[in-house]
Amino acid sequence: MATTPTPPSEAPPTVVLAKRGDILLKLGDANLPKVSLLVSSGALSTVSPVFEDMFNARFKEGQSLSSAAPREIELPDDDPLCMTILCKIIHLQIDDIPRQLDVINLANFAVLCDKYACINAVRPWSRIWVLELLPATHIPGYDKLLMISYVMDLPDEFFKVTQSLIRNRTFCVDMEVAAHGHDFIPKSVFVRLQKAQVLYQNQVVDTLEPRFGSSNGLTSTCPESSTIVKDYFSKLKDRGLWPTKAMVLTQYRDQLKSMPSLVTSKCHCSLWAFCKTAPTLKDTILQRMNTIIDSTQGICLDCVYQDNGKEGLKCRIKHGKEPF
Ligand SMILES: [Zn+2]
Ligand SMILES: [Zn+2]
Repeated sequence: MATTPTPPSEAPPTVVLAKRGDILLKLGDANLPKVSLLVSSGALSTVSPVFEDMFNARFKEGQSLSSAAPREIELPDDDPLCMTILCKIIHLQIDDIPRQLDVINLANFAVLCDKYACINAVRPWSRIWVLELLPATHIPGYDKLLMISYVMDLPDEFFKVTQSLIRNRTFCVDMEVAAHGHDFIPKSVFVRLQKAQVLYQNQVVDTLEPRFGSSNGLTSTCPESSTIVKDYFSKLKDRGLWPTKAMVLTQYRDQLKSMPSLVTSKCHCSLWAFCKTAPTLKDTILQRMNTIIDSTQGICLDCVYQDNGKEGLKCRIKHGKEPF
């Protein structure tokens, strides 16, 4: 069925953000819904040097701005939804600002705020939206939180996002998704994430090797022990844990959790051998895995900024020497 085109005479709805506004921002293009925002040039100029320059350049002497006849400015390249939210925040019209923003809109919002150099003005909101999305590690586009927290200059959230990516991804973060079409994030961040994933994966895989005091328990002469060892490796194999391969950190743990207990019978040998630890082996390994997963570090945003040429910064999160 053919759609009826909107009559050209139909004026887009105007959202009044400043009653005595002197600028009418016209948003949207042929593909995006159109909307006009009546705003105050003073409010926008206060938080955004880009808007300030724009108004100064367009309205020179003799063309002063007035609320009697607001000047129109077309911004067809800017996302109407994001620009409306941004202008509402700037004009403190916050009653109907969404409490949640999906990751695509949030990424667009971050790009817009960077373009207009007004990251500081929106920080409390960007924090709320990022924190809301942080636990949802499996939503499509989750990796964009890396770019969002980087561009929005949120050190705690950047640490948590990187920590979550290390815990919940295998080897790589989807660079294309994360970058959202822009090259804000230095390549070194992706390299470090990959290094961290390898580091923690190796540590977790290492816990699967049955240890026994200083020896690995596999060379014991106790016959019961060698039966248990065989049983252990065959159960690991059933769960895809042996031979070891790259997996998401939490997946190693979940697979081990679902592994049936080892078959053990009381062994009366006098050896300090695998038969003695087998009954508690699974729990011991789970504990070690949890300790490693809980200790996973994230990346310090300020260290990344400094590595990429920003000088005189102090780390806003406390951290020791980063292990990757
Ligand atoms: Zn034994
Ligand atoms: Zn640091």
